[in-house]
Amino acid sequence: MSVFVPTVELLRDLVQRPSVTPDDKGCQALIAARLEALGFTIENMPAGDVENLWARLGTDAPLVVLAGHTDVVPTGDESQWRVPPFSAEVIDNKMYGRGTSDMKGGVAAMITAVERLLGQHKTLNGSIAFLITSDEEGPAIHGTRHVVDTLAARGETIQQCIVGEPSSSDVLGDVIRHGRRGSYGCRLVVSGIQGHVAYPHLAKNPVHDLSPFLTELIGIQWDEGNEFFPATSLQISNIHAGTGATNVIPGQVTVDFNLRYCPDTTPAMIQTRIEDLATKHQLDADFTWLDSANPFITEPGPLTRAVERAVIKRTGVTPNLNTAGGTSDGRFIAKLAEEVIEFGTTNATIHQIDECVDIEELVTASCIYEDVLIELLTDSPQS
Ligand SMILES: [Zn+2]
Repeated sequence: MSVFVPTVELLRDLVQRPSVTPDDKGCQALIAARLEALGFTIENMPAGDVENLWARLGTDAPLVVLAGHTDVVPTGDESQWRVPPFSAEVIDNKMYGRGTSDMKGGVAAMITAVERLLGQHKTLNGSIAFLITSDEEGPAIHGTRHVVDTLAARGETIQQCIVGEPSSSDVLGDVIRHGRRGSYGCRLVVSGIQGHVAYPHLAKNPVHDLSPFLTELIGIQWDEGNEFFPATSLQISNIHAGTGATNVIPGQVTVDFNLRYCPDTTPAMIQTRIEDLATKHQLDADFTWLDSANPFITEPGPLTRAVERAVIKRTGVTPNLNTAGGTSDGRFIAKLAEEVIEFGTTNATIHQIDECVDIEELVTASCIYEDVLIELLTDSPQS
């Protein structure tokens, strides 16, 4: 069965629905219709303003889940795009549009992979399910987390899950993610006393108080990383102070920073160390901490091995297993699944103006998903 036309056409239909998070704009209805035709049982699991789809074929274990999201990030200034961002135009073998790479491409590639699989194999040694949400790019509260909680309450378990996020870095297949670092953020407000710059003895400048603290903060070596995780890193993302006038000493300064952490360092360790540092520097400090993602890791098992084999066969590239990159919904699914990996096309243009996906990569990714399903769910070796 042809890979090229169905995958490209499905992706175009998805991209042309401008599903800026959390508005699904009918993407899941399209996906559900496609899966229902293959015999999947469709369950919509909306929560809040989020659409979620759980579609399952079969009742036996093992259950292999294909996970993804239909929501996309905003386009930014549309006039800067070389083509309109929801046009899905193909130029030089690349399809342009918001979500082509992150990750409607992955969703389309997984769906057509299942269509081809079922075209050849009428019975499977297990089940397949799709878990699709419209809240991955947003707060991620009512999305995959909600579906996983619902499945957990029913006592369902997942053996293997592929999240079709664009994991590849330079070429298709170079990276499989089998975990993610944690994300821990903070807003720090340091107070001083506002005053006239000509009368500093009557004021207390919080920016001056903050500076040596920040120098020490950014120099901290949190850990060395370990076999699976890169070292914890801290980045300052925003600093705001001042009234706009050049002759006023500000009364407060606000700093936002975020740590992507390796499990060798815990949020409690981070918080204690940073608050102690503020005390040492005698800051009048107010901390608001946000624990936005726990780290997760899954030990390589049958799924990881199947993806590695398929990647090598289809691309000649030997994939690197790592845990770099931003957070993803894999962290929620990992609570319920024995093995969760993220695998998909290259991510060079995600969230950018002129986001695009290389059609050949997309088609090859779809073949890799198909090979993996054949290995996990049929008696045939990878063809
Ligand atoms: Zn994504």
